[in-house]
Amino acid sequence: MDLSIVVPLYNERDNLAALHDELTRTMRSLGRSYELIFVDDGSTDGGLEVLRSIRGQDPDVRVIRLARNSGQTAALSCGFNRARGDVIVAMDADLQNNPADIPLLLGKLGDGFDIVSGWRTERWHDEALTRRMPSVAANWLISTMTGVRLHDYGCTFKAYRREVAQGLSLYGEMHRFVPAIAAEQGAKVTEVPIGFRPRHAGTSKYGLWRIVRTLLDLITVKFLSGYSTAPIQVFGLIGLVVGGLGGIWTTILVLEKVLLGHPLANRPALLLAVLLVVVGVQFISIGLLGEMLARTYHESQNKPIYVVKEEF
Ligand code: UDP
Ligand code: MG
Repeated sequence: MDLSIVVPLYNERDNLAALHDELTRTMRSLGRSYELIFVDDGSTDGGLEVLRSIRGQDPDVRVIRLARNSGQTAALSCGFNRARGDVIVAMDADLQNNPADIPLLLGKLGDGFDIVSGWRTERWHDEALTRRMPSVAANWLISTMTGVRLHDYGCTFKAYRREVAQGLSLYGEMHRFVPAIAAEQGAKVTEVPIGFRPRHAGTSKYGLWRIVRTLLDLITVKFLSGYSTAPIQVFGLIGLVVGGLGGIWTTILVLEKVLLGHPLANRPALLLAVLLVVVGVQFISIGLLGEMLARTYHESQNKPIYVVKEEF
């Protein structure tokens, strides 16, 4: 099998027929073996019946139905794990991405990249205030924090080599960070400009909450990519600095009391100094707990702390 197209979908009934038509047209024109995997993420709009009839007419279609709505990341991850193609292309079900752009992604993948990400250059019909501006800020922030510079982290239209897609462990809303997570494991990532259209039918599944959730996930990704195998290096350092400051300050206060006879009880500085000591000790303890968790994490699943590219 050459290609697997993975489409996570939640309540997209009125998009499915058009999506299947456009995808089939593009795939047939490529002349390679393919499968279309629709991952129904617990839809409640009757879209499943539409999928059933599409599947009945087209043996290249596979439908996977999740037991409940688990989120786009989970649905995508399910599709990746089940895909049989050497190359996996992921896309949304709302036809905002144009299936006719698939060859663009594939072409770049052939140039030796592991992931080719779509870059929506013409987003003029997206709302400026709630979508385009947060997106510009998010792309800058994620690029800066992770060091993987892309113009469009929010675009799920991507092509992957199968091993890379299946090697990702995704949690939360982390499909947005796939390029950064994969690059961390040594994957070569690039982007190509693609078209972008208004939603075909139905409504967006995300509101402004996505901004907060993306920020929280960014913290996780940044931490895991840099320090997941050495948490004490982060928390221990903070603990040493904070606790050290507190220790020195407490000592000074005590010396003042003992040697110079300055009263201590009425000085708020004492409270702060002691607080710093306590917080410092706590940070170091968190670091140690993190170290133990990191060992459990890696050893329980025989997951090495490195990724081998090849051996010869
Ligand atoms: N989606 C999903 N599960 C969810 C939410 C969304 O599978 O819980 C799918 C949705 O059906 C669509 C894709 O994820 O195919 C992107 O969602 P949407 O188009 O609403 O996002 P937007 O384009 O507004 O960012
Ligand atoms: Mg969309």
